[in-house]
Amino acid sequence: MDPFRLIIDGKRVPTQQCFEVLNPGTEKVAGLAPLAEPKHLEDAIRAAKVAFKTWRDETERKRQTACRKIAQKIEDHAEELAQLLTAEQGKPLNGFGSRWEIGGAVGWTQYTSTLSMPMKVLQDNNEGRVELYRKPIGVVGSILPWNFPVLIAIWHIIPAVLSGNTVVVKPSPYTPLTTLRVAELMNEVLPRGVVNCVTGDDDLGPIMSSHPDIGKIVFTGSCATGKKIYASAADTMKRMTLELGGNDAGIVLPDVDPKQIAEGLFWGAFINTGQTCAAMKRLYVHDDVYEDVCEELVKFARKMPMGIGTDEDAILGPVQNIKQFDIVSELVADAIPKGRVLLGGDAPKKSAKKTGYFFPLTIIADLENGDRLVDEEQFGPVLPIVRYREVEDAIERANDSPNGLGGSVWGRDINEAKRVASKMECGSVWINKHGMIQPNAPFGGVKQSGVGVEFGEEGLAEYTDLQVMFS
Ligand code: NAD
Repeated sequence: MDPFRLIIDGKRVPTQQCFEVLNPGTEKVAGLAPLAEPKHLEDAIRAAKVAFKTWRDETERKRQTACRKIAQKIEDHAEELAQLLTAEQGKPLNGFGSRWEIGGAVGWTQYTSTLSMPMKVLQDNNEGRVELYRKPIGVVGSILPWNFPVLIAIWHIIPAVLSGNTVVVKPSPYTPLTTLRVAELMNEVLPRGVVNCVTGDDDLGPIMSSHPDIGKIVFTGSCATGKKIYASAADTMKRMTLELGGNDAGIVLPDVDPKQIAEGLFWGAFINTGQTCAAMKRLYVHDDVYEDVCEELVKFARKMPMGIGTDEDAILGPVQNIKQFDIVSELVADAIPKGRVLLGGDAPKKSAKKTGYFFPLTIIADLENGDRLVDEEQFGPVLPIVRYREVEDAIERANDSPNGLGGSVWGRDINEAKRVASKMECGSVWINKHGMIQPNAPFGGVKQSGVGVEFGEEGLAEYTDLQVMFS
């Protein structure tokens, strides 16, 4: 098995050591990733710093064209990338799986390449002219999680390079391969040093977040790591976009048709087998429709096939790694005696565990705030359901969380649904759907779910510093 290579200064760079990347569906080796040492990271940062001197002065049109060509490259290699992504991440090829993620990466890149940040004239009169410019920051350090290793890399890299920055990207050690390949494809289009990719241990992250030559960190991952990054970046006063964990609530109002919303509820909670930052992670259902909603949701969930990612019939896949599998198992074990298991529940016993980190789709009703499965982010194929009687009480319980990424309200009376939605403390709120994001709408968390936004003009602006020119 040929090891992958780091991508530094436009070159494929071998390392002395490699590490095995496991396919979570089979527990077999999916590929060998290069284990970067700190000196490789230093080389990558230096290359990005040199490349910035010319990339920042390119015209916006040239950078837009480069991004469009990247979209084309990814599209041309879509099936190869999807297969590699499935091998290392475990997600199925179909459904909202690898092919969908690669398609999303193409669409996001295409849309973002149309954005522009023209100079604004703030004043032009006898007293003078005032112009507002948005200038690139410098070297952007991108640190990625393992749930959407390609799509999130695109969310970080494309607005950065479009606005004239250069990038050092560090994928999660669980899913480094497809990101390396995408960075390699980008380097077929971009000048050397504009996008560099370095893979290895978690230890590389703190070097990036404290490095004096990195001007901004864009990080997607857990709240715990986000807090460490925030602290370690303070000394160099880095610009920061942090997209962190969520514990999104859905509130089902009493006027819904349970049958009609079951599919939407299901995908809101179980997209990417529940391993999605803005998935619905707890569901509050009004007493009037409680049993019917539970029944319809379970009926829909039972039909969903789970299997290894290369099985063309699979729609749901394994949990991505054993650490996450253990977190999910622990939270479910804690919830079982407190609630009513409607579906799944039994974590495969370690000793008798079949190959692959498959956790059965699990729905547990009759839980309450204060139960760990309701209060903590499960990040797996598990949904707790809570019964409520007063809508205001459901809102209060939904907001009783340090997180505030997304939320949703389900109801026929749209005005009432919007009233409830406006009271939810979260960055995105959906009516009769959950988790639908799009490249022209800013996305980010409030409270401890993060700092800043991605996507659209607001997201692009976060890769720039302002300069005001008075003449
Ligand atoms: P994680 O925080 O464990 O790891 C993310 C990345 O941080 C990895 O690349 C890791 O190597 C790196 N890292 C680890 N320690 C570091 C340190 N001290 N300094 C710098 N970098 C360090 O997260 P994960 O387990 O890969 O992802 C799951 C989490 O990510 C969930 O909580 C989920 O909600 C969140 N997430 C959020 C979003 C969003 O947009 N808000 C999207 C996807 C995932």
